[in-house]
Amino acid sequence: MTPGAKSEAVIDKVEINGATLDFNAGDKPVATAVTAGRNKDNFVIVYECWEEMKQNADGTLEPVAFWYSDDSMYTSSTNMFTQFESGRKCMYSIGLKAKDGYKFGNGSSTVMIFDGKDVGATYFIPSQDGKTAMGMALKTINIEKAQQHSHTYGKWSFNKNSHWLQCTDSNCNDLNGSIKDKAEHTFESDKDTVCLVCGYERQIEKPEELVKPGDSGNKPAEPDNNPIAPGESEEVDPGGSSGDPVTNPETDGSVGMITITLSAVALTGALILRKKR
Ligand SMILES: [Zn+2]
Ligand SMILES: [Zn+2]
Repeated sequence: MTPGAKSEAVIDKVEINGATLDFNAGDKPVATAVTAGRNKDNFVIVYECWEEMKQNADGTLEPVAFWYSDDSMYTSSTNMFTQFESGRKCMYSIGLKAKDGYKFGNGSSTVMIFDGKDVGATYFIPSQDGKTAMGMALKTINIEKAQQHSHTYGKWSFNKNSHWLQCTDSNCNDLNGSIKDKAEHTFESDKDTVCLVCGYERQIEKPEELVKPGDSGNKPAEPDNNPIAPGESEEVDPGGSSGDPVTNPETDGSVGMITITLSAVALTGALILRKKR
């Protein structure tokens, strides 16, 4: 009709790639689609759109909320959504605009390829003048509850005061939120050092019990020697090992951790020294 209209070239093939079509509950929609193919410079993407669909009693689907990558698409009456919710069915559409000098043909003269597939004439809807077009219902996804992360628990975590369970999944995005069963350590008694729940080992002072250890009482002869032995053993050992390397390694090995034996060894060492002198 008008000279301008006649000079417009028809875009016979519309190709779109790169749309993000996989979302989990809690994700925000993102616009990542790009034009592609030999006509990719002849039109632009105006918006990407997700519609939240509600299933009616008769089985039909009805859009109840919308997300647009272009804010200007919203009207005051638009029910917007900003993140996907579990259990919802969502439908993807895209809005296109031909650049100056180009226009979209109708469904029989223009093919739309979305994500590598021919969408069919039913879902490619050009405006009457061909300047804009919509790819409708190109993809429908279900936002599954099952795709939500569920925490995995293993060993107890602990610090000085308490223990707790925390998600052990390295992909967990809510480590703090996963903390549960936090409680103070539980000990069987005041003397008990290992938490019954988590195994944390506390340090408690029980010096009197360790030093006295009735062990010394078990051996009647020792008590008198005890005060002398510690001082002597320190002085005697170095001299002993340098003076008599054969004897001392054996006695050292048999010492173990028993205090009493130590004092006995110290005495022996002292005796050896005295013999040598
Ligand atoms: Zn987790
Ligand atoms: Zn504990």
